Amino acid sequence: MADPVNHLHERLRALAHNLWWTWHPEVISIFTDLDPHLWRQVDHNPIAFLNQITPEQVEERAAELVLHSRINYAFRRLNEYMEQQKTWGIIHCGNVNNRPVVYFSAEFGLHESLPIYSGGLGILAGDHLKSASDLGIPLIGIGLLYQQGYFSQRLNNDGWQEEDYIDLDPGRLPLQQVRDSAGQPLIIRIDTRRSPLQARVWQLQVGRVRLLLLDSNVDGNSAEDRDLTSRLYGGDDNLRIRQELLLGVGGARILQALNIFPGVLHLNEGHSSFAILEEIRRIMDYDQIPFHRAHRRVSLYTVFTTHTPVAAGHDRFHPDLVEEHLGIFRERIGLSHEDFMALGRVNPGDHTETFCMTVLALKTSRRANGVSAIHADVSRLMWHGLWPSRPELEVPIGHITNGVHVLSWLAPQMHQLFQTRLGQDWPTRMVHPDVWDHVAEIDDGELWETHQSLKMRLIRFVRRRLRLQAERLGHHETIEEIDRILDPDVLTIGCARRFATYKRGTLILSQPERLARLVKDTKRPVQIIFAGKAHPRDDEGKWLLQQIARLSYDSAYRTRIIFVENYDYNLARHLVQGVDVWLNTPRRPLEACGTSGQKVVLNGGLNLSVLDGWWNEAYDGRNGFAIGHGGMHNDPGVQNQRDADYLYDTLENEVLPLYYEKDASGIPCGWVKRMKHAMQSLGWRFNADRMVKDYAERFYLPAASATSTETG
Ligand SMILES: *Cc1c(COP(=O)(O)O)cnc(C)c1O
Repeated sequence: MADPVNHLHERLRALAHNLWWTWHPEVISIFTDLDPHLWRQVDHNPIAFLNQITPEQVEERAAELVLHSRINYAFRRLNEYMEQQKTWGIIHCGNVNNRPVVYFSAEFGLHESLPIYSGGLGILAGDHLKSASDLGIPLIGIGLLYQQGYFSQRLNNDGWQEEDYIDLDPGRLPLQQVRDSAGQPLIIRIDTRRSPLQARVWQLQVGRVRLLLLDSNVDGNSAEDRDLTSRLYGGDDNLRIRQELLLGVGGARILQALNIFPGVLHLNEGHSSFAILEEIRRIMDYDQIPFHRAHRRVSLYTVFTTHTPVAAGHDRFHPDLVEEHLGIFRERIGLSHEDFMALGRVNPGDHTETFCMTVLALKTSRRANGVSAIHADVSRLMWHGLWPSRPELEVPIGHITNGVHVLSWLAPQMHQLFQTRLGQDWPTRMVHPDVWDHVAEIDDGELWETHQSLKMRLIRFVRRRLRLQAERLGHHETIEEIDRILDPDVLTIGCARRFATYKRGTLILSQPERLARLVKDTKRPVQIIFAGKAHPRDDEGKWLLQQIARLSYDSAYRTRIIFVENYDYNLARHLVQGVDVWLNTPRRPLEACGTSGQKVVLNGGLNLSVLDGWWNEAYDGRNGFAIGHGGMHNDPGVQNQRDADYLYDTLENEVLPLYYEKDASGIPCGWVKRMKHAMQSLGWRFNADRMVKDYAERFYLPAASATSTETG
């Protein structure tokens, strides 16, 4: 019998070792109740938390707070979840059951305690795994374990971004080292002309889904290779091609070492395209067939999702680099250098063309998609050259619009409100529009109160962050002064994104007099909370960010224009749950999809966005606000000017009047109506369960039927 003292601690440890807890607030609240201060101090990392609290302390605190039943209940729920037999996947995906979908991505955003993501692409991949788990689709994720993750952001006194890199400690993460059939730590090895590249493999459990992460920091690697997986998007082409070699070829080799035969290869963006080549090699060896036949076979069960609407954003490698790192591999599959290069060239005859990872993926996948309807249009145009004999509309790139993992982004308070009206089991039925019809039955006052309390929570969070920042920068602000920052009764706009030029994060600052009027209005003011990182080498992005930071340091704007440092999962969660309006101003059509606005809708916020990405197919005139009418201009200057005019006009003429029109009891009825309509019209569509079901039905099942007849 286990010692009862150890018992609770061990159950908590089991909960901490499956990232299922990240979308179950009832587990998180156990940790916060046990010790809120420690929980914050360890950055919401339950393993670090449990490392610092003894089993006796847990037992003592649990007794004081009557936590036993909550811990035991959560533990039982997790076990039931893991063993459940009647999942959507088991019922509908019989075909892929014997062979999993293998989902490759260079980053995965699962929680703030696991900083192996930089932004939207990673968060999407994390949400994909979580929904695949909830639906019971047999899926395995493959990625890289970055020792230092993405950077954490700090601003200096001049508002300039500085970066900190912190080493991850595997002992503080729910990682398990993967072993080979002999019980030894599995080592993946790839021979290259430079030096052999080796990696160990870690496993993370995400609900029912396994995520396998390659880590090159092992003995036997050159010093340079040991650092290969230290940073996300850190280095030059040399480093990048090696990272991608590890992800693709290395990832596929993990499967072989573990005797996993993929039913479907799903490449999330082109970084992992080399996986295709290793899979071709395996089939060539196994079935003793030539390259071109294996190539055709693998393409039948390869699915490719492209995310980048800008030509320059696709990875391309110089022929010499390809030869240096993949030359040995190329010889193994018996291709000449030119034939190999042709796999990554739009025009195989053009010897000057570089090797493009997206081209390789498009040429070798029977099913390819963009991440919104408009993005697929852009992608078909961009890759028309690969299918020159077809009309542009028949370029085989479809679309599956992204969605978000609802339980990861929905505030617990809002979840509770939904449960009373949508039914206890609403999360399992969230892809059905009729479930969301019941939002209409939620009392206006209750919805508004819930929203306001979430907004207050956001405001307290921001003030806490600003206090820390002011201390660090040596600004002499008193607590009273900080507590005057942000007002819960003022229309609160959130604007958080990567500071890339096309995202135009500063569009709302572009006409200073109009901005000043909006912010300083005595009757109907606005306040804006900004966040976002610029890529460490993108000085232009840093300069944009600096414009906002400087304004936020200006005493005339200090209480109403805020920049919060270090946009990450945690800050995103607070923002999307607490703002009134989510502002998105990309230059159309350069936003592939955008998902942060979807998180906002679930929590009762309204989108104010350019008609681009998902919003272009979501906006119906009553479920948020549009900036402009979807027009574009070749001259970015003209387009910026027009969109800025539209933005201010919409704010002044539509958003503010609706928000500040309150009834006798202080509720803005027209606004609440719009909140509800947004939830009803968008909730069932823009969630990751719908997205993953779309992938399963349209891509995975047909692709898997191509492998189910094969033996090897
Ligand atoms: C959701 C999310 C993103 C992606 O949002 P976009 O709408 O594509 O900008 C990026 N970073 C974080 C931290 C997020 O939570």
